[in-house]
Amino acid sequence: MKRSLLILFIAALIGAFFTFDLHQALTLEGLKTGLDQAQAQLASDPLLVAGSFFVVYVIVTGLSLPGAAVMSLGGGALFGLLWGTIIVSFASSIGATLAFLVSRFVLRDAVQNRFADRLKTINEGIEKNGAFYLFTLRLVPIFPFFLINLLMGLTPIRTVTFYAVSQIGMLAATVVFINAGTQLAQLENLSDVLSPTLLASFVLLGIFPLLAKKVVAIIHSRRVYAKWQRPAKLDRNLIVIGAGAGGLVSSYIAATVKAKVSLVEAHKMGGDCLNTGCVPSKALIKSAKLAQQIRQGSRYGLNNAEPDLSFSKVMARVHQIIKNVEPHDSIERYTQLGVDVVQGYARIVDPWTVEIRQPDGAISKLTTRSIIIATGARPHVPALPGLNDVGYVTSDTLWDAFAKLDAAPGRLVVLGGGPIGCELAQSFARLGSAVTQIQRGPRLMPREDEEVSTLVQRHLEADGVQVLRTCKVLRCERDGDEKYIVVEAATEASIKGDRKKEQRIAFDQLLIAVGREPRLEGYGLKELGIETKRTVLTNDYLQTLYPNIFAAGDVAGPYQFTHTASHQAWYAAVNALFGHLKKFKVDYRVIPWTTFIDPEVARVGLNEQEAKVQGIAYEITRFELKDLDRAITESATDGFVKVLTVPGKDRILGVTLVGEHAGELLAEFVLAMKHGLGLNKILGTIHTYPTWAEANKYAAGEWKRAHAPQGVLRWLQRYHRWRRG
Ligand SMILES: Cc1cc2nc3c(=O)[nH]c(=O)nc-3n(C[C@H](O)[C@H](O)[C@H](O)COP(=O)(O)OP(=O)(O)OC[C@H]3O[C@@H](n4cnc5c(N)ncnc54)[C@H](O)[C@@H]3O)c2cc1C
Repeated sequence: MKRSLLILFIAALIGAFFTFDLHQALTLEGLKTGLDQAQAQLASDPLLVAGSFFVVYVIVTGLSLPGAAVMSLGGGALFGLLWGTIIVSFASSIGATLAFLVSRFVLRDAVQNRFADRLKTINEGIEKNGAFYLFTLRLVPIFPFFLINLLMGLTPIRTVTFYAVSQIGMLAATVVFINAGTQLAQLENLSDVLSPTLLASFVLLGIFPLLAKKVVAIIHSRRVYAKWQRPAKLDRNLIVIGAGAGGLVSSYIAATVKAKVSLVEAHKMGGDCLNTGCVPSKALIKSAKLAQQIRQGSRYGLNNAEPDLSFSKVMARVHQIIKNVEPHDSIERYTQLGVDVVQGYARIVDPWTVEIRQPDGAISKLTTRSIIIATGARPHVPALPGLNDVGYVTSDTLWDAFAKLDAAPGRLVVLGGGPIGCELAQSFARLGSAVTQIQRGPRLMPREDEEVSTLVQRHLEADGVQVLRTCKVLRCERDGDEKYIVVEAATEASIKGDRKKEQRIAFDQLLIAVGREPRLEGYGLKELGIETKRTVLTNDYLQTLYPNIFAAGDVAGPYQFTHTASHQAWYAAVNALFGHLKKFKVDYRVIPWTTFIDPEVARVGLNEQEAKVQGIAYEITRFELKDLDRAITESATDGFVKVLTVPGKDRILGVTLVGEHAGELLAEFVLAMKHGLGLNKILGTIHTYPTWAEANKYAAGEWKRAHAPQGVLRWLQRYHRWRRG
C-alpha cells in the first residue's frame, strides 16, 4: 500500500514536470535565458536563491529527471567555482541517495526475489567490493548518473556507503561542470563540457581504482612471499597433499594435461570416502536393508522371518567391498596415469617446498610451483567428562573396531542426528542393535525441511531406534562394568522449553557422529600463516593466502561430500596449473546431496526453510509417491517429490526428494538446474513406464496442471460444445 502510494506520488511529480514544460528550463538554452533574472534575485536574497537551487537540484536528481548536468552548469554560473561546487556536490549526492532509496524501496525486493540465484554472486561481490565498484562508476561521467543510482538501489550496498562514495567519487566531475558553468556564455553545447581529452582522462581516472587493485594484489602477493626464498629450479608443477577424492581428482587432472605431479598420502589411498566413509557405510546400509526386508517379508507376500544374520560376515563383506573398490584409487592405477604417488606425511615448509616423512622415517623434500591441500576432515569428538573412560568409536574407527564383533553391539548409543548419525543408527538397528540416538537440536537432519525430519524420525523409530531430541549430553560414567551416558533428556515439556530431566542411558558401544572438522594442524599451515577459520580460508579460485597454494575438499569446505571435493579439485588443479593465463571461480550454484537412509533423502538447490530464511519467493509443487505405479508395485510408497519454482514460472529453485532411489532420481533435476531447463522440459521428456523416474515427470505435470491457462480452457470448452452442435 505504502509502496503504491509512493509510486503514485512520484509518477504525479514526474507528470507535472513534463506537463508544465519544466524540462524546457533545464536545457542549456533555458538556463541561459533565465540566468540574468536568477542573478538579479541572487544579489537581493542570496540565501533564498541558494536554498531553492539546492532543493530543486535534490528533487530533480531524486526523481531521476533529466537536467542534472544543466543544473550543475547553472550552479557554476550563479555561485562561482567554490560555492557552486559545495552546493552541487551535496545536492547531487543527497538527490542520488534519494533516487537510490526509492529504487530500493519500490523495486529491490521484486528484483531480488525474481532473480535470486542469479544475483547471489553479484550480491556477494557488492557486499565485499561494492564501494569500490561504485567509486569506479562515479569517477567516469559517461556512466549515466541516474542509472547508477537506480541500479545500486537494487543491490545490498549500505545507504551510508552509497552516499559517502557518491559524494567523493562525483567530486571531480562536479568541479568540471561547475567550472564550465562559470564560462556559461561561451558554451554552445552540453557536449562542449566534456572534450574527448577530458573524457579520456576521466576514463583513466575510472580505470585507476581497478589498476590500483591489481597493483595492491601484486604488492600483497610480493609481501606474502617476501620472507621466503623461491628455489631457482622446481622439481614439480604440482604437489597434492592427501589422496582422498579431492587429491585424487586434482592429481589425475594434472597428469592428464602432462604436468609433473606428485600425490602424497600419509595413510590409505582413497581417503575417507573409500576407507571409512561412503563406501563402507553404503555397503553396511545394503546389508541392513536386506535384513529388514526379510523381517518384513509379508509386505511382498512372503512370510516375515528373522534374518539368519552373522554380523561378522556383514562386516567382512563391508571390508571386501572396500577391497573391491580399492583398485580405482590405487597407487598402481595413479602411477599408470602418470602421477608420482608418494607414501608419507607431507609438511609444507615454504610456499614451494614440501617435506615428506616416509613410513620408514626417511625425510625427503620436493619443490613445486603449486601445492593443493586436500587433507580432508576427521570426526569431531566433543570434550565430554568421562568420555575417554567409557571409550567410544567414530566413523573413522568403527569399521575396524566392530569387525571383530560376532554380533552387532547390543546397546548402541549414536550421538548426533545429522546424515551420518541417521544412516548408521538405522543400519545398526536393522542389524540387531538396540539403538538410542541422541540429537542436541529439536529435530533430526535439521538442514532439511521439517516434514523431512519428521518422516526420517518416523522411519528410524519404526526400525526400532529410540530418538531423543533437544537432548543435552552432560557426561559419561562407569559403574563397574556398566557404561552410561548422562543426558538432560527431552520430554515433550522440555522441547517446549520447560523442565529438563536427567537420564542415564546404559550402553555397550558409543558411536560419536556430531560432525567432522577439517584437518588443519601438523603440516605447516600455522607456520606459513595460512589463515583458517574452521576450514582453510580460500578465495573464489580456491587460493589460500599464497596464490600458488590451493585447497580443495573437506579441508576447504563449505560442503563435505565426495562429489564436491572432486568438483573443487578441477578448479584447484586448473587454476594451479594455468591460473597465470586464466583463472576459474569455483561454481557452487547447483550442489546436490543424498542421505542414504531408507527411504533416501536427496536434495539440490533450495528447500522451503532456506527460501524463507533468504526471503526468496517460491511456489511449491508436490507429487506423492503413493500415486506412482512403480512405488505401488514395490510397496514403497512413502515419500514425495517437492519442487520449489519461481512464482508463475517453471524455473526450478530447488528439489527435495524422499523415497526409494531418491538419490538416483535427483540427477534429472540436477541436470535441469545446471542447464536452466524448467519443469516444462521435464514434462516433455519421455520417461519409461513404470519407473521411479516417472515421479519427476509427474511432479512437473502437477506444476503444469496448477498453471493451466483457465481462460483458454473455458474457451475450448465452449468451442467443443459448439462443435457438438
Ligand atoms: C560415514 C561417512 C559417510 C559418508 N558418506 C558420504 C556419501 O554417501 N556421499 C558423499 O558424497 N560423501 C560422503 N561422506 C563424506 C566424504 O567421505 C568426504 O566428503 C570426502 O571423503 C572428502 O574427500 P577429501 O579428499 O576432501 O578428504 P579425505 O577423503 O578425508 O582425504 C584426505 C586424505 O589426506 C590425507 N592426509 C591428511 N593430512 C596429510 C598430510 N599431511 N600428508 C599426507 N596425507 C595427508 C589423509 O590421510 C586422507 O587420506 C561420508 C563421510 C563419512 C565419514
